[in-house]
Amino acid sequence: MSTVRSAVVVGGGVAGPVTAMALRKAGIEPTVLEARPAGAEDRGVFLTLAGNGIEALRVLEADRPVLAAGFPTPALTLRSGTGKRLGETAIGVPLRDGTTSRTLCRADLVRALHDEAASRGIRVERGRRVVGAVEDSAGVTAVLDDGSEVRGAVLVGADGVWSTVRRVIDPDAPAPRYQGLVGTGGYARGVAVDAEPGRFEMVFGRRAFFGYVVAPDGEAWWFANVPRPDEPARGELAAVSAQAWRARLLDLFADDAGPATALIEATPELEPMSALHAVPRLPRWRRGRMVVVGDAAHAPSPTSGQGASLAIEDAVVLATCLRDHPTVPSALARFEALRRPRVERIVRWAQRMNANKAAGPVGRVIRDAVLPLVLRAPGAAKAQRSMFEHRVEWEPRTA
Ligand SMILES: Cc1cc2nc3c(=O)[nH]c(=O)nc-3n(C[C@H](O)[C@H](O)[C@H](O)COP(=O)(O)OP(=O)(O)OC[C@H]3O[C@@H](n4cnc5c(N)ncnc54)[C@H](O)[C@@H]3O)c2cc1C
Repeated sequence: MSTVRSAVVVGGGVAGPVTAMALRKAGIEPTVLEARPAGAEDRGVFLTLAGNGIEALRVLEADRPVLAAGFPTPALTLRSGTGKRLGETAIGVPLRDGTTSRTLCRADLVRALHDEAASRGIRVERGRRVVGAVEDSAGVTAVLDDGSEVRGAVLVGADGVWSTVRRVIDPDAPAPRYQGLVGTGGYARGVAVDAEPGRFEMVFGRRAFFGYVVAPDGEAWWFANVPRPDEPARGELAAVSAQAWRARLLDLFADDAGPATALIEATPELEPMSALHAVPRLPRWRRGRMVVVGDAAHAPSPTSGQGASLAIEDAVVLATCLRDHPTVPSALARFEALRRPRVERIVRWAQRMNANKAAGPVGRVIRDAVLPLVLRAPGAAKAQRSMFEHRVEWEPRTA
């Protein structure tokens, strides 16, 4: 049985507020420290929350506001740049009550989680950037960039792909790995798109990848992944004007079937182009009373559609381990043992999907021939099930 009473959670993205709610349920009082000031979230990218992530939120009774912020996206169609249908697949399986995967803006997801945490009286401090942490026998002290300190019995790094806590735990931690793709996206109205609302269309274009889905109100939400072998230098993508990116995207998709160019043209503002990174295998997730969760521990490439769901699963499992184990280090060891195999399997799968997106001319021909067979293979269905049908639970006990 745990004697842990307090926790510092670094990061208030997806994993942060959910970890805080899970810790509270386990009888541990959390303080969340988020670097961004209040009101800094713009609409930003959208993401899909899978059934396993929704079920993990249900464990905490925090699923309703999140579901309300998005719309159902139960399935997707894969196409080649010529418009040929390569295959169709469900995005997971519906939950027992019929709920399916939801797509929502990341900012709306974060807002819903923060509102829910606030309604439970959880303390979230914004504009608070952690720059280090010092551990002693009784707890951990987080050090902030203004020199102030916050202390808890355990420190959870939920600070995303560029995690500071990861480096506090292990100064030799590998840097996030560039995925060979840069990405952007946007929201467009007024384009007649031949697609069922809520059904993703994923197009392996001749020169870049394009995905889109029509929301129930008719707005089309889209994203583009552009292969780029060498990692862009810091600031390089931001130095290119939005107008130049738009022109480049229109050129890249000019020869492809589908509405990509119409949607790009109709989008008032493109999301900033950014390089896609992953954290495929982090050697150390924890040290003493410190641990990383979510993207800080294991960022899959966005292609997986699982990053947020895995972060939410982590939160629940971590809280149950801290609840059940007599010491913080033993709880964190159990957490890692329970989570590492699953998340690394999914990260590897996403890596293979990325390779398809960045295929050259020969790879493209092979992919277009092979993908329909792969999608129909029994192994693919099994992999999907292990990803989406996994359930984290509050009971039984982990020790
Ligand atoms: C383009 C794109 C598309 C994606 N699509 C999907 C999808 O469809 N489905 C899906 O499940 N996932 C998707 N993901 C991944 C998903 O967004 C992440 O896996 C998820 O946000 C991870 O949550 P997190 O809380 O671990 O990290 P984040 O959401 O990144 O939150 C980390 C938080 O920590 C804060 N922070 C950072 N450093 C500090 C510090 N030193 N001190 C205090 N605070 C700090 C940050 O400001 C941030 O708020 C996508 C990602 C991208 C980029």
